[in-house]
Amino acid sequence: MFEIPKTMKEFEKASPWWRTKFPTEIHVAENGVPTLLGMIEERGKKPFFVLDEVLENQPEFKDLFAQERKYLFNATASEPKTGDVDSLVALIKKKYPDADIIVGVGGGGTMDLSKAVGICLENPKTAEEYQGYGFDMKKGRDIWVMPTLCGTGAEVTPIAVLRGPKRKLGINNPHTEASVAVISPPLTKGVKKFNRVFTMLDCYFHHYEITKSKTSAPDAVADSVDGLNIAREVLMAGLTEYKPELAIKSAMASVLGGSSSIGGRVGAAHAISYGLSNSAPTLPHSVAVTLSMLALEDLYRDGGYDETVEILKINGLDEPKARDYGINESHIESMTKTALGMEKLWQSHFGDEWEEKADKKFIEDIYKKVLSA
Ligand code: NAD
Ligand code: ZN
Repeated sequence: MFEIPKTMKEFEKASPWWRTKFPTEIHVAENGVPTLLGMIEERGKKPFFVLDEVLENQPEFKDLFAQERKYLFNATASEPKTGDVDSLVALIKKKYPDADIIVGVGGGGTMDLSKAVGICLENPKTAEEYQGYGFDMKKGRDIWVMPTLCGTGAEVTPIAVLRGPKRKLGINNPHTEASVAVISPPLTKGVKKFNRVFTMLDCYFHHYEITKSKTSAPDAVADSVDGLNIAREVLMAGLTEYKPELAIKSAMASVLGGSSSIGGRVGAAHAISYGLSNSAPTLPHSVAVTLSMLALEDLYRDGGYDETVEILKINGLDEPKARDYGINESHIESMTKTALGMEKLWQSHFGDEWEEKADKKFIEDIYKKVLSA
């Protein structure tokens, strides 16, 4: 394990702290907004900004909200939808056709929206038609991102997760990857405790599942071992209040979550979470994976389950309940169908004999357990 920087000055010199190579240029900056705007000017780019609207009340972001070419995304109301992508693509084509970079500033939701818009601008079909894997897509406009909430790793992954009319599924394509990511942990200061904890828990689950995976590449596992240690440390220290040192660590764990997901694969908790997400339009991804982990005591006896319970306690949060998001027994059949389709994730967890283990009854029982909590 490398030495973890304690100050922003140390952090600015820490790259690369990951092993898996990715094309995104990482810029660590104490003052994210002026750094981002300075880079755009220096490189002579014509940006279009996609900003999480919640940031408008925070003075650090004033110069971004003063920009004319922008769209404000309400990430609190929903994860990004395929329809949001289509309308933004239409708007940019009509009003700002010369925009050569799409700049996403916000959490995973806002970054994914900007990533999807960037690629869809140069591809003819609707976003829904590109949800999935292996589509032949052209490179779109350049994508730049600046996370204001850390944990998803979306700042470096080749995935833009979207909710579509039929399902929640990513556009999985190398051209959704950001070409520049400005990493500025002080920008996460205004995040609510609930989001800080749950998004970091998602980061913890990514790393935890990749370290347990039977199909992940060695570099990805090594990045996840580091990421897991950092995420665990941060969550166990408690994220009730913003602390600069923990914000730096969270930003590091998040990038490691992105790098490790390139050669790595998550497992059972994520497979179960997709069924839950598809049945609950307002359920945040991070809460969906937490609900899943809390029902997987038998699979994740060596850490994952017990630590999740402990982390929620340390951070003063109740265990979430699926019923609070409208999930009930009538959803079990469709949730099971979705989860059964996550073959690669079950294979990641169980190895080649996954089909004997992750059958219909096994998965139904997990959803019954989720609902009995
Ligand atoms: P988010 O973007 O959904 O934001 C959660 C909440 O935090 C929102 O209310 C948002 O407004 C608020 N917020 C963000 N930054 C803030 C700040 N600085 N101050 C105050 N409030 C702030 O949360 P997330 O957990 O970062 O992202 C979740 C999304 O990312 C989901 O849609 C999920 O599917 C996706 N995801 C993507 C990847 C990927 O690789 N692309 C990986 C995991 C998850
Ligand atoms: Zn996740």
